[in-house]
Amino acid sequence: MHKFACKDLGIDCEFSATGENKEETLQKAMAHGGVVHKDLMEGQTEEQKAGFDKMLYDSIQPV
Ligand SMILES: [Zn+2]
Repeated sequence: MHKFACKDLGIDCEFSATGENKEETLQKAMAHGGVVHKDLMEGQTEEQKAGFDKMLYDSIQPV
């Protein structure tokens, strides 16, 4: 199992997601971010988005 939490990215949000593997967890995190943190994502440049995606991916930890 892998786990993601918004708090791990310094976002003030109680959301966390778990998945069988990193990819599944990432999908859940992206689905959440695309809705709940839409404003946060929309204000970013393509470059910032790419950096954010990497940071998100790296923050997913095995549990
Ligand atoms: Zn969140």
